[in-house]
Amino acid sequence: NTRALLEKQREIDSSAVAYPDDIPIAFEEGKGATVRDADGNTYIDLFAGIGVLNVGHSNPYVLEAVHEQADKFVHTVDFPTEARLELIEKLDEIAPDGLQGQNKVVFGGPTGSDAIEASIKLSKYNTGGDGLIAFRGGYHGATSGAMSVTSNKKFKGEYTPLLSDVVHAPYPHPFRQDKTPEEAVDHALEEVQAIVEDPYGGLANPAGIIVEPIQGEGGIVTPPKGFLQGLRDIADDNDVTLVFDEIQSGLGRTGQWWASDWDGVAPDAMTSAKALGGVGFPLSATMYHEDLDTWGPGDHAGTYRGHVVGMRAGTRAIEYIQDHDLLAHARDLGEYIQGRLREAADGNDRLADIRGKGLFIGAEFVDADGKPDGDLVDAVQQYCFERGVLVWTAGRHGNVLRFLPPLVLTHELAETALDVVVEAIESVTA
Ligand code: PMP
Repeated sequence: NTRALLEKQREIDSSAVAYPDDIPIAFEEGKGATVRDADGNTYIDLFAGIGVLNVGHSNPYVLEAVHEQADKFVHTVDFPTEARLELIEKLDEIAPDGLQGQNKVVFGGPTGSDAIEASIKLSKYNTGGDGLIAFRGGYHGATSGAMSVTSNKKFKGEYTPLLSDVVHAPYPHPFRQDKTPEEAVDHALEEVQAIVEDPYGGLANPAGIIVEPIQGEGGIVTPPKGFLQGLRDIADDNDVTLVFDEIQSGLGRTGQWWASDWDGVAPDAMTSAKALGGVGFPLSATMYHEDLDTWGPGDHAGTYRGHVVGMRAGTRAIEYIQDHDLLAHARDLGEYIQGRLREAADGNDRLADIRGKGLFIGAEFVDADGKPDGDLVDAVQQYCFERGVLVWTAGRHGNVLRFLPPLVLTHELAETALDVVVEAIESVTA
């Protein structure tokens, strides 16, 4: 059944579909952290639709509110609804210190890219600046502004010119840069400082710094402590807007509500999407300090800026995480998973770096010369798939095995999945 669906998809679907040919799976049903394919095979899902399903596939607590809302009405724009006001209040409740109590939310559209566009506008409106500082390895989305701040050319192709006033600074990556954590942070901050002081590359007047507190697509690159605070200081000293892109790293993924909570650093604006729609409804938001609320009605538009079903789902998902203490669970389970990976890395020089926080974990593989080895990761992924574990990849060279399981993954299922992953690593790197 899966093969028939895949063949049909290949025949009729766009060639832009990014489907890994060697992972033939057609989804039929998802529950919690498992999915069943069209042939009745069950998989443990360590991918969760790119980190969307934090409360698990088709979480019944969330769906109850979805059904209730859908029976009443599905769509409006900015008209007040209980669903909208509830979510704004809920987001304030979990906002980082520094935003909490002074947090505004703009819903611009369904995707993360929409939220990034809103954050770019906010940066420009509020500073009068025109330039943006982003980071190498960063990923921010598929619209023109979001592609401009994304660094990897793979995601932009020949689609240029984009925004011309963007400069990409180095992101601290101690392993790849062969630096100590302190050196990597200093190096990145010195570059950002230099760009702000003496802008180059067409960047006349910096409006904002946009950064993922942990890079997702870039390979779960986890900057050492000090980086975010350093950016905060530079932004404060130079009246530049600091934007954290928490689209992949937020809403409990790292065992804190926001990855930046680990460092206790608040941004001026923050983007959220993916898990915000609860069980996969498309919903995004830009949260920002009320001091930035200088724009007027209609300055940011979007037909779907009030998707009530998505909003209901989002509020319920946050409640579910609170009621089940899933932040603590994500921290514990993350330690367990990283522990298993570290054991596997012991004496195995192909598994060269393990990093991340909570259930946002990357394992970087290299060849015998220490160069990125994407083929090894593909082989590990394939081995896992054949044995019922879905795990994804990341990084510019595709050489990072990426773990983004639902936060509801049980310890028992994690153990079963990690037995397979470790066996895969041993078999493939032997
Ligand atoms: N920012 C980050 C950090 C992301 O991971 C993504 C999606 N992978 C986006 C922005 C873009 O979100 P979307 O695909 O919903 O537009």
